[in-house]
Amino acid sequence: MDLMEYQAKELFAKHDVPVQLGTVITDAADAAAAAEAHGGRVVVKAQVKTGGRGKAGGVKLARDPQEAEARAKEILGMDIKGHTVRRVLVAPAADIAEEYYFSFLVDRAHRNYLCIASIEGGVEIEVTAVENPDAVAKVAIDPLVGVDDAKAAEIVAATRFPAEVADQAAEVIRRLWDVFIKEDATLVEVNPLVKLADGRLEALDGKVTLDGNSDFRQPAHPAFELREEEDPLELAAKEKDLNYVKLDGAVGIIGNGAGLVMSTLDVVAYAGEQHGGVEPANFLDIGGGASAQVMADGLHIILNDPQVKAVFVNVFGGITACDAVADGIVHALEMLGDEANKPLVVRLDGNNVEEGHRILAEANHPLVTMVDTMDGAADKVAELANA
Ligand code: ADP
Ligand code: MG
Repeated sequence: MDLMEYQAKELFAKHDVPVQLGTVITDAADAAAAAEAHGGRVVVKAQVKTGGRGKAGGVKLARDPQEAEARAKEILGMDIKGHTVRRVLVAPAADIAEEYYFSFLVDRAHRNYLCIASIEGGVEIEVTAVENPDAVAKVAIDPLVGVDDAKAAEIVAATRFPAEVADQAAEVIRRLWDVFIKEDATLVEVNPLVKLADGRLEALDGKVTLDGNSDFRQPAHPAFELREEEDPLELAAKEKDLNYVKLDGAVGIIGNGAGLVMSTLDVVAYAGEQHGGVEPANFLDIGGGASAQVMADGLHIILNDPQVKAVFVNVFGGITACDAVADGIVHALEMLGDEANKPLVVRLDGNNVEEGHRILAEANHPLVTMVDTMDGAADKVAELANA
């Protein structure tokens, strides 16, 4: 789960990373009072789960409470990269002397943790990495050792933090490591980590991704979930325990097994190139025991996606054989009734495939087309989605 800046900062504060929490508001009428509470001179910051808010006009300075209210009015309701701004953070304006970049993340390629840091912060680190790679320090972290004093010193030296902030930086780094490990995060990023005019360090922005697999030992984490910020289809899928991810294309996808579904996405995107560039609309893995209920739940989610024009059901019969899946499809279509209103291309293979085909042929549903091969089915569904 990705956190909003204000939520990331709550975790920073919990682990004694220097930060000013500010006040989150959803109504511009509350901005003046919030600004008053933080000394009048504040920044008003859009809270959306995307970076580059500053560039997009979602971070604005206000010299007094009246200005804070005006800025909040402008920013609330704004669209930043497809995210509607529903809340803003009113935080004390910092007197910035220097901006640094700092992050801890999981380095999957090396099965390790990685620290990326730079004294050229405030801008996108990807840009710095291309334009001035020498300014970006990368320090590998052994998960069994973590960030001890020696590792913190190594990071400070590799980043070339100025001498006057070196000790503070080491301390902040150890505390950010606490956030990363104790909160079971897969990413902790601070951009910018600033040196204030008085010489103190402070985290002015925060981006944290929490590992959902650790929810069982992180009872406080589910409270970070903001239902209104989630995609309504993904929310509905989560309620049905479906493994669903919304994408932007027109071909709904249902398959069993994450690997098969991933390759189905590839095959559909490839076939789509011949049919007006249509692309997959979602990832949906219905897993092993694909019962009629699970199939109906999956189809229900996908058919309710207004972007979907056609659906590809790609199932390999294993423990749940093809006849059971075919039964599932037939019953799901009965259960959905008029809701089933978009063409379905079904490709079955594996255990009991002949019986599966026979069941679908016998049902003879007007929306269902059977195709034997994965490539052929992808081509057919792309054609139907483009019709
Ligand atoms: P984003 O990364 O989404 O653009 P940031 O929180 O990093 O958003 O803000 C962008 C820039 O705005 C920062 O690099 C910093 O220069 C400035 N800024 C952010 N918060 C404050 C603050 N509390 N006081 C002063 N300037 C700020
Ligand atoms: Mg930032």
